[in-house]
Amino acid sequence: MAEQRNDTVFGMILRGEIPADIVYEDELAVAFRDIAPQAPVHVLVIPRRRVRSLAHAAADDQALVGHLLSVCAAVAEQEGVAESGYRVVTNIGENGGQSVDHLHFHVLGGRRLSWPPG
Ligand code: AMP
Repeated sequence: MAEQRNDTVFGMILRGEIPADIVYEDELAVAFRDIAPQAPVHVLVIPRRRVRSLAHAAADDQALVGHLLSVCAAVAEQEGVAESGYRVVTNIGENGGQSVDHLHFHVLGGRRLSWPPG
C-alpha cells in the first residue's frame, strides 16, 4: 500500500525540501535543532517513518520508540548536557501542545528547567 504523503513541516525536512540544522541521523531517526529554541540546547528527535504522535505508536513501533529515546540520550551527550542534566519531552494532541503531527521528542538542556511545565 502506498504510504500517505507526509505534509508536515518535518516531512518537508526529511525530504530535504526545507533546510534543517541536523545534528544526528541514522536509518531510523533524524535529530535537528528546533527553529525556536526554548533552551540553549533544543533538539528535536523524529522517526523517518511518520508516526503521528506517541498516542499513535502501535505495538510494533516499540523498538522504534525505544530507539528514538536512545537517540535523545546520545544527542544530549553530543551536545554536552548529559552531565548537567536535561529534559526529554513529547507533546501529544491539543492539550499536550502538539503543533506538528509527526512524533518528535524535544531534548532541552543547558539551563535549569522549571517544573511543573506551564
Ligand atoms: P510541538 O509544539 O511539541 O509539536 O513541537 C514542534 C516544534 O517544532 C516546535 O518547538 C517548533 O519550534 C518546531 N519547529 C517548527 N518548524 C520547524 C522547522 N522548520 N525547523 C525546526 N523546528 C521547527
